[in-house]
Amino acid sequence: MAQVLILAQHVDGELAASTGELLAAAAIAGDPAAVIVVDEGDGAELAAKLGSLGAQNVYVASTPNASGTLITPQVAAMHAAVQAASPSAVIVGSDTDSREIAARLAVRADGALLHDVEGIEGSGDSLVVSQQAFGGSYSVRAVAARGIPIISLRPNSVEGAAPAAAGTVIPIDIAGDTAPASTISGRHEKGEQSERPSLQTADIVVSGGRGLGSQEKFVLVEQLADSLGAAVGASRAAVDAGYVDHTMQVGQTGVTVSPTLYIALGISGAIQHRAGMQSAKTIIAINKDADSPIFDIADFGVVGDIFTVVPQLIEAVKARKG
Ligand SMILES: Cc1cc2nc3c(=O)[nH]c(=O)nc-3n(C[C@H](O)[C@H](O)[C@H](O)COP(=O)(O)OP(=O)(O)OC[C@H]3O[C@@H](n4cnc5c(N)ncnc54)[C@H](O)[C@@H]3O)c2cc1C
Repeated sequence: MAQVLILAQHVDGELAASTGELLAAAAIAGDPAAVIVVDEGDGAELAAKLGSLGAQNVYVASTPNASGTLITPQVAAMHAAVQAASPSAVIVGSDTDSREIAARLAVRADGALLHDVEGIEGSGDSLVVSQQAFGGSYSVRAVAARGIPIISLRPNSVEGAAPAAAGTVIPIDIAGDTAPASTISGRHEKGEQSERPSLQTADIVVSGGRGLGSQEKFVLVEQLADSLGAAVGASRAAVDAGYVDHTMQVGQTGVTVSPTLYIALGISGAIQHRAGMQSAKTIIAINKDADSPIFDIADFGVVGDIFTVVPQLIEAVKARKG
Protein backbone atom coordinates (compact mmCIF):
# COMPACT_ATOMS: atom_id res chain seq x y z
CA MET A 1 0.00 0.00 0.00
CA ALA A 2 1.09 3.58 -0.54
CA GLN A 3 2.21 5.66 2.41
CA VAL A 4 -0.13 8.11 4.12
CA LEU A 5 1.74 11.03 5.68
CA ILE A 6 0.75 12.74 8.89
CA LEU A 7 2.17 15.96 10.31
CA ALA A 8 3.41 15.34 13.86
CA GLN A 9 3.22 18.56 15.90
CA HIS A 10 5.31 18.69 19.07
CA VAL A 11 6.28 21.07 21.87
CA ASP A 12 9.21 20.65 24.28
CA GLY A 13 9.83 17.07 23.15
CA GLU A 14 6.20 15.98 23.61
CA LEU A 15 4.06 14.97 20.65
CA ALA A 16 0.62 16.58 20.35
CA ALA A 17 -2.15 14.51 21.92
CA SER A 18 -3.73 14.00 18.49
CA THR A 19 -0.68 12.22 17.01
CA GLY A 20 -1.78 8.67 17.81
CA GLU A 21 -5.20 9.31 16.29
CA LEU A 22 -3.66 10.77 13.11
CA LEU A 23 -1.52 7.64 12.72
CA ALA A 24 -4.56 5.42 13.37
CA ALA A 25 -6.40 7.32 10.61
CA ALA A 26 -3.40 6.93 8.29
CA ALA A 27 -3.39 3.18 8.96
CA ILE A 28 -6.98 2.97 7.65
CA ALA A 29 -5.94 4.46 4.31
CA GLY A 30 -2.41 3.07 3.81
CA ASP A 31 0.99 2.68 5.45
CA PRO A 32 1.31 5.31 8.18
CA ALA A 33 4.32 7.64 8.01
CA ALA A 34 5.04 10.85 9.92
CA VAL A 35 6.75 14.15 9.16
CA ILE A 36 8.45 16.19 11.90
CA VAL A 37 10.37 19.44 11.86
CA VAL A 38 13.02 19.74 14.55
CA ASP A 39 15.92 21.95 15.60
CA GLU A 40 19.23 20.69 14.21
CA GLY A 41 20.43 17.59 16.05
CA ASP A 42 17.01 16.74 17.54
CA GLY A 43 14.51 14.20 16.29
CA ALA A 44 15.72 10.73 17.32
CA GLU A 45 13.55 10.51 20.45
CA LEU A 46 10.48 11.85 18.68
CA ALA A 47 11.01 9.40 15.82
CA ALA A 48 11.12 6.52 18.34
CA LYS A 49 7.87 7.73 19.92
CA LEU A 50 6.27 8.04 16.48
CA GLY A 51 7.33 4.47 15.68
CA SER A 52 5.68 3.22 18.88
CA LEU A 53 2.49 5.01 17.76
CA GLY A 54 2.59 3.27 14.36
CA ALA A 55 4.77 5.34 12.02
CA GLN A 56 6.62 3.01 9.65
CA ASN A 57 8.75 5.88 8.33
CA VAL A 58 9.52 9.22 9.95
CA TYR A 59 10.59 12.02 7.59
CA VAL A 60 12.74 14.35 9.68
CA ALA A 61 13.46 17.90 8.54
CA SER A 62 16.14 19.63 10.64
CA THR A 63 16.38 23.38 10.46
CA PRO A 64 17.91 26.13 12.63
CA ASN A 65 15.35 27.69 14.99
CA ALA A 66 12.55 25.25 14.07
CA SER A 67 10.81 25.88 17.38
CA GLY A 68 10.93 29.66 16.85
CA THR A 69 9.60 29.78 13.28
CA LEU A 70 5.91 29.67 12.46
CA ILE A 71 4.22 27.44 9.84
CA THR A 72 6.67 27.79 6.93
CA PRO A 73 9.16 25.01 7.89
CA GLN A 74 6.31 22.51 8.30
CA VAL A 75 4.90 23.43 4.89
CA ALA A 76 8.34 22.99 3.33
CA ALA A 77 8.86 19.67 5.14
CA MET A 78 5.45 18.31 4.17
CA HIS A 79 6.05 19.34 0.56
CA ALA A 80 9.50 17.70 0.50
CA ALA A 81 8.07 14.54 2.11
CA VAL A 82 5.22 14.43 -0.42
CA GLN A 83 7.79 14.58 -3.23
CA ALA A 84 9.94 11.89 -1.58
CA ALA A 85 7.17 9.49 -0.55
CA SER A 86 4.46 9.98 -3.24
CA PRO A 87 1.80 9.33 -0.56
CA SER A 88 -1.80 8.48 -1.40
CA ALA A 89 -3.03 11.01 1.22
CA VAL A 90 -1.86 13.50 3.83
CA ILE A 91 -3.57 13.88 7.22
CA VAL A 92 -3.08 16.72 9.71
CA GLY A 93 -4.87 17.73 12.91
CA SER A 94 -7.52 20.41 13.11
CA ASP A 95 -5.62 22.90 15.28
CA THR A 96 -5.19 26.33 13.72
CA ASP A 97 -1.57 25.81 12.62
CA SER A 98 -2.22 22.40 11.06
CA ARG A 99 -5.21 23.72 9.10
CA GLU A 100 -3.12 26.57 7.71
CA ILE A 101 -0.29 24.19 6.83
CA ALA A 102 -2.78 21.91 5.04
CA ALA A 103 -4.12 24.81 2.98
CA ARG A 104 -0.65 26.01 1.97
CA LEU A 105 0.46 22.46 1.17
CA ALA A 106 -2.61 21.94 -1.01
CA VAL A 107 -1.56 24.94 -3.11
CA ARG A 108 2.06 23.82 -3.37
CA ALA A 109 1.36 20.15 -4.06
CA ASP A 110 -1.72 20.83 -6.19
CA GLY A 111 -3.69 18.67 -3.76
CA ALA A 112 -7.35 18.55 -2.74
CA LEU A 113 -8.10 20.11 0.65
CA LEU A 114 -10.67 18.28 2.79
CA HIS A 115 -11.39 20.14 6.04
CA ASP A 116 -13.35 19.13 9.14
CA VAL A 117 -13.15 15.45 8.33
CA GLU A 118 -14.90 13.12 10.77
CA GLY A 119 -14.34 9.76 9.12
CA ILE A 120 -12.11 8.01 6.56
CA GLU A 121 -12.90 4.89 4.52
CA GLY A 122 -11.06 3.06 1.78
CA SER A 123 -7.60 3.73 0.43
CA GLY A 124 -5.77 4.99 -2.65
CA ASP A 125 -8.16 6.18 -5.36
CA SER A 126 -11.12 4.80 -3.36
CA LEU A 127 -10.50 7.05 -0.34
CA VAL A 128 -13.76 8.62 0.85
CA VAL A 129 -14.09 11.03 3.77
CA SER A 130 -17.10 12.25 5.71
CA GLN A 131 -17.01 15.90 6.68
CA GLN A 132 -19.14 18.79 7.86
CA ALA A 133 -20.04 21.43 5.31
CA PHE A 134 -21.68 24.85 5.29
CA GLY A 135 -21.06 25.59 8.95
CA GLY A 136 -22.23 22.16 10.02
CA SER A 137 -25.62 22.37 8.26
CA TYR A 138 -24.77 19.26 6.23
CA SER A 139 -22.73 16.10 6.69
CA VAL A 140 -21.31 15.03 3.34
CA ARG A 141 -19.16 12.23 1.93
CA ALA A 142 -16.42 13.55 -0.33
CA VAL A 143 -13.59 12.37 -2.55
CA ALA A 144 -10.63 14.29 -3.97
CA ALA A 145 -11.60 14.99 -7.57
CA ARG A 146 -7.91 15.35 -8.47
CA GLY A 147 -4.57 15.57 -6.68
CA ILE A 148 -3.57 14.15 -3.30
CA PRO A 149 -6.29 14.37 -0.63
CA ILE A 150 -4.99 16.67 2.14
CA ILE A 151 -7.18 16.04 5.14
CA SER A 152 -7.61 17.93 8.42
CA LEU A 153 -9.11 15.49 10.89
CA ARG A 154 -11.39 16.50 13.76
CA PRO A 155 -10.28 15.11 17.13
CA ASN A 156 -11.98 11.93 18.42
CA SER A 157 -13.03 10.92 14.89
CA VAL A 158 -11.10 7.65 14.64
CA GLU A 159 -11.03 4.89 17.25
CA GLY A 160 -8.22 2.44 17.96
CA ALA A 161 -4.51 2.75 17.31
CA ALA A 162 -2.06 1.85 14.58
CA PRO A 163 0.20 -1.13 15.43
CA ALA A 164 3.70 -0.14 16.63
CA ALA A 165 6.18 0.07 13.74
CA ALA A 166 9.84 0.63 12.96
CA GLY A 167 9.81 4.43 12.86
CA THR A 168 12.63 4.37 10.30
CA VAL A 169 14.20 7.85 10.14
CA ILE A 170 14.46 9.38 6.66
CA PRO A 171 16.15 12.81 6.66
CA ILE A 172 14.67 15.40 4.31
CA ASP A 173 16.34 18.59 3.21
CA ILE A 174 14.42 21.87 3.37
CA ALA A 175 17.46 24.18 3.32
CA GLY A 176 16.69 25.32 -0.23
CA ASP A 177 13.16 26.38 0.72
CA THR A 178 13.42 30.13 1.19
CA ALA A 179 9.76 31.10 1.64
CA PRO A 180 9.45 34.13 3.96
CA ALA A 181 8.69 33.10 7.52
CA SER A 182 7.44 34.73 10.70
CA THR A 183 9.69 34.10 13.67
CA ILE A 184 8.86 34.29 17.36
CA SER A 185 10.70 37.25 18.89
CA GLY A 186 9.49 36.83 22.47
CA ARG A 187 7.23 34.75 24.67
CA HIS A 188 5.05 35.94 27.53
CA GLU A 189 3.67 33.46 30.01
CA LYS A 190 -0.10 33.68 30.12
CA GLY A 191 -0.24 33.51 33.89
CA GLU A 192 -1.92 30.61 35.60
CA GLN A 193 -2.32 27.57 33.35
CA SER A 194 -5.52 25.58 33.72
CA GLU A 195 -5.19 22.00 34.92
CA ARG A 196 -8.30 21.06 32.95
CA PRO A 197 -7.96 19.07 29.73
CA SER A 198 -7.54 21.00 26.50
CA LEU A 199 -10.86 22.04 24.97
CA GLN A 200 -10.08 20.69 21.51
CA THR A 201 -9.08 17.19 22.55
CA ALA A 202 -11.07 16.65 25.76
CA ASP A 203 -13.22 13.57 26.06
CA ILE A 204 -15.91 15.54 27.91
CA VAL A 205 -16.77 19.22 27.38
CA VAL A 206 -19.15 21.24 29.55
CA SER A 207 -20.16 24.54 27.92
CA GLY A 208 -22.14 27.45 29.26
CA GLY A 209 -24.16 30.09 27.45
CA ARG A 210 -25.89 33.39 28.06
CA GLY A 211 -28.30 31.50 30.34
CA LEU A 212 -25.63 31.58 33.04
CA GLY A 213 -26.32 35.29 33.40
CA SER A 214 -22.97 36.56 34.72
CA GLN A 215 -19.26 35.85 35.06
CA GLU A 216 -19.75 34.97 38.74
CA LYS A 217 -22.48 32.45 38.00
CA PHE A 218 -20.44 30.86 35.19
CA VAL A 219 -18.53 29.09 37.99
CA LEU A 220 -21.39 26.57 37.94
CA VAL A 221 -20.15 25.38 34.52
CA GLU A 222 -16.63 25.03 35.90
CA GLN A 223 -17.87 23.10 38.96
CA LEU A 224 -19.72 20.57 36.80
CA ALA A 225 -16.72 20.30 34.46
CA ASP A 226 -14.36 19.67 37.38
CA SER A 227 -16.61 17.01 38.85
CA LEU A 228 -16.43 15.18 35.51
CA GLY A 229 -12.76 15.92 34.67
CA ALA A 230 -14.01 17.86 31.65
CA ALA A 231 -12.87 20.89 29.65
CA VAL A 232 -14.89 24.11 29.82
CA GLY A 233 -16.37 25.74 26.72
CA ALA A 234 -18.78 28.58 26.07
CA SER A 235 -21.13 30.05 23.51
CA ARG A 236 -20.22 33.27 21.76
CA ALA A 237 -22.91 35.13 23.68
CA ALA A 238 -21.22 34.08 26.94
CA VAL A 239 -17.84 35.17 25.58
CA ASP A 240 -19.16 38.48 24.27
CA ALA A 241 -20.78 39.15 27.65
CA GLY A 242 -17.33 38.71 29.26
CA TYR A 243 -18.16 35.60 31.30
CA VAL A 244 -15.05 33.80 29.94
CA ASP A 245 -12.07 34.25 27.63
CA HIS A 246 -12.67 34.01 23.86
CA THR A 247 -10.30 31.01 23.63
CA MET A 248 -13.15 29.00 25.18
CA GLN A 249 -15.68 29.83 22.45
CA VAL A 250 -17.10 26.77 20.72
CA GLY A 251 -18.56 27.17 17.26
CA GLN A 252 -18.14 28.39 13.73
CA THR A 253 -15.89 31.28 14.74
CA GLY A 254 -14.42 29.50 17.75
CA VAL A 255 -13.02 26.08 18.54
CA THR A 256 -14.36 22.91 16.95
CA VAL A 257 -14.82 20.07 19.42
CA SER A 258 -15.78 16.46 18.94
CA PRO A 259 -15.86 14.94 22.43
CA THR A 260 -17.50 11.73 23.57
CA LEU A 261 -19.84 13.82 25.74
CA TYR A 262 -20.88 17.48 25.31
CA ILE A 263 -23.03 19.12 27.96
CA ALA A 264 -24.67 22.44 26.99
CA LEU A 265 -25.91 24.60 29.86
CA GLY A 266 -28.14 27.59 29.07
CA ILE A 267 -27.22 27.50 25.39
CA SER A 268 -29.97 27.93 22.80
CA GLY A 269 -28.23 25.96 20.03
CA ALA A 270 -27.79 28.55 17.26
CA ILE A 271 -26.45 27.09 14.02
CA GLN A 272 -23.10 28.82 14.54
CA HIS A 273 -22.69 27.10 17.92
CA ARG A 274 -23.82 23.74 16.58
CA ALA A 275 -21.19 23.94 13.81
CA GLY A 276 -18.52 23.55 16.47
CA MET A 277 -19.99 20.72 18.56
CA GLN A 278 -22.67 18.71 16.81
CA SER A 279 -20.28 15.88 15.94
CA ALA A 280 -19.99 15.08 19.68
CA LYS A 281 -20.93 11.44 20.23
CA THR A 282 -23.49 12.23 22.97
CA ILE A 283 -25.04 15.64 23.60
CA ILE A 284 -26.86 16.58 26.80
CA ALA A 285 -28.67 19.92 26.99
CA ILE A 286 -30.15 21.66 30.01
CA ASN A 287 -32.33 24.63 29.11
CA LYS A 288 -35.48 26.11 30.61
CA ASP A 289 -37.06 26.67 27.18
CA ALA A 290 -38.46 23.39 25.82
CA ASP A 291 -38.51 24.88 22.30
CA SER A 292 -34.79 25.69 22.26
CA PRO A 293 -33.15 24.37 19.06
CA ILE A 294 -30.40 22.70 21.12
CA PHE A 295 -32.96 19.99 21.93
CA ASP A 296 -33.18 19.13 18.19
CA ILE A 297 -29.67 17.69 18.33
CA ALA A 298 -29.51 16.60 21.98
CA ASP A 299 -29.48 12.89 22.82
CA PHE A 300 -30.70 13.72 26.32
CA GLY A 301 -32.45 16.91 27.30
CA VAL A 302 -33.53 18.37 30.63
CA VAL A 303 -36.07 21.18 30.50
CA GLY A 304 -35.34 23.11 33.65
CA ASP A 305 -33.45 25.89 35.37
CA ILE A 306 -29.71 25.25 35.30
CA PHE A 307 -29.34 26.76 38.78
CA THR A 308 -31.68 24.07 40.14
CA VAL A 309 -30.65 21.12 37.96
CA VAL A 310 -26.86 21.49 37.76
CA PRO A 311 -26.11 21.57 41.53
CA GLN A 312 -28.11 18.34 41.86
CA LEU A 313 -26.19 16.86 38.94
CA ILE A 314 -22.85 17.77 40.57
CA GLU A 315 -23.97 16.14 43.82
CA ALA A 316 -25.07 13.01 41.93
CA VAL A 317 -21.71 12.80 40.10
CA LYS A 318 -19.81 13.20 43.38
CA ALA A 319 -21.99 10.57 45.07
CA ARG A 320 -21.43 8.15 42.17
CA LYS A 321 -17.67 8.69 42.43
CA GLY A 322 -17.85 8.03 46.17
C1 LIG B 1 -21.00 35.12 11.82
C2 LIG B 1 -21.42 34.59 13.16
C3 LIG B 1 -20.57 33.70 13.80
C4 LIG B 1 -20.94 33.20 15.05
N1 LIG B 1 -20.11 32.28 15.67
C5 LIG B 1 -20.50 31.72 16.82
C6 LIG B 1 -19.70 30.72 17.46
O1 LIG B 1 -18.60 30.38 17.02
N2 LIG B 1 -20.18 30.17 18.62
C7 LIG B 1 -21.39 30.51 19.18
O2 LIG B 1 -21.74 29.96 20.23
N3 LIG B 1 -22.14 31.46 18.59
C8 LIG B 1 -21.73 32.08 17.46
N4 LIG B 1 -22.50 33.06 16.91
C9 LIG B 1 -23.63 33.58 17.69
C10 LIG B 1 -24.87 32.72 17.61
O3 LIG B 1 -25.65 33.11 16.50
C11 LIG B 1 -25.73 32.90 18.88
O4 LIG B 1 -26.02 34.26 19.05
C12 LIG B 1 -25.06 32.40 20.16
O5 LIG B 1 -24.59 31.08 19.98
C13 LIG B 1 -26.08 32.39 21.28
O6 LIG B 1 -25.47 32.03 22.47
P1 LIG B 1 -26.34 31.42 23.67
O7 LIG B 1 -27.01 30.18 23.20
O8 LIG B 1 -25.47 31.35 24.87
O9 LIG B 1 -27.37 32.60 23.95
P2 LIG B 1 -28.92 32.67 23.69
O10 LIG B 1 -29.26 32.37 22.28
O11 LIG B 1 -29.37 33.97 24.26
O12 LIG B 1 -29.51 31.47 24.55
C14 LIG B 1 -29.49 31.46 25.95
C15 LIG B 1 -30.29 30.23 26.35
O13 LIG B 1 -30.24 30.09 27.75
C16 LIG B 1 -31.50 29.63 28.19
N5 LIG B 1 -31.61 30.00 29.60
C17 LIG B 1 -31.66 31.24 30.13
N6 LIG B 1 -31.69 31.18 31.48
C18 LIG B 1 -31.67 29.86 31.79
C19 LIG B 1 -31.72 29.16 33.02
N7 LIG B 1 -31.71 29.79 34.21
N8 LIG B 1 -31.71 27.80 32.98
C20 LIG B 1 -31.71 27.13 31.80
N9 LIG B 1 -31.66 27.76 30.61
C21 LIG B 1 -31.64 29.11 30.61
C22 LIG B 1 -32.50 30.29 27.30
O14 LIG B 1 -33.70 29.55 27.25
C23 LIG B 1 -31.76 30.30 25.96
O15 LIG B 1 -32.08 29.14 25.19
C24 LIG B 1 -22.16 33.58 15.66
C25 LIG B 1 -23.00 34.47 14.99
C26 LIG B 1 -22.63 34.97 13.77
C27 LIG B 1 -23.56 35.93 13.08
